[in-house]
Amino acid sequence: MLNYEELKSAFEELNLQDELVIAHTSLKPFGYIQGGAEAVLEAMLTSFHSVIMPTFTYKTQIIPDVGPPNNGIIYGSGGDKNKMAEPFHPDMRADPMMGILPETLRNHSSAIRTSHPILSFAGVNAGATLYTQTLYEPLAPIGALAQQDGWVVLINLDHTSNTSIHYAEKFAGRKQFIRWALVGDRVVECQNFPGDSMGFQAIEEHIKFDTRRVEIGEAFIQAVPLTRLFSVVYEMIKKDPFALLCQRTDCERCNTVRGY
Ligand SMILES: [Zn+2]
Repeated sequence: MLNYEELKSAFEELNLQDELVIAHTSLKPFGYIQGGAEAVLEAMLTSFHSVIMPTFTYKTQIIPDVGPPNNGIIYGSGGDKNKMAEPFHPDMRADPMMGILPETLRNHSSAIRTSHPILSFAGVNAGATLYTQTLYEPLAPIGALAQQDGWVVLINLDHTSNTSIHYAEKFAGRKQFIRWALVGDRVVECQNFPGDSMGFQAIEEHIKFDTRRVEIGEAFIQAVPLTRLFSVVYEMIKKDPFALLCQRTDCERCNTVRGY
């Protein structure tokens, strides 16, 4: 059984006390945690200068019947999901797909949450970073973190959860997409929506010497500096325009990037 002190000393071993971090977490490999997700979050907030996490809300999405071509989407396939879509509101829960911690962070008394209808972020002690987000540049907070020498922290997760790679993909010129979300009674167009992340683990061998890693039994925490991550992604894509794409033959977004 893990407690707050053990988690805190694991996070402190990363030596990121003065750094701004974007974190992605799966708590399951930790097993039972005394104090639950709140204890993990508190340990993170005392071990890093500031913490942001994606609090994405996919249930706001609508798939229209028609739209621009080469957009990595099957128009008209919304069906029941369109009927069940809910308009974004600032108190909307983070998608459970991202685990419990983003929702725990969003509910923290000092947290700020941005208002992008699909790709919002929450954070503590990171107001200036979060406010760089616009509807047109949804991943701007990640760029702002990099400018402040921020780090990405992956807790029990590999790079397929590393949203920051998307920021670097766009910077390297990779195609972005358009998606649509409900806001009030309107449908809002969301530009610069990133591609698929299922092929991102291919970056691991290129970034391993820049990665700090702490193991706790079966569980692990790894941290990578964003500026280094960005240059590795940039180099990989410049060398191979299809780098970091997934191998699924039915992946709409990766196939669109490949030009199929
Ligand atoms: Zn894919």
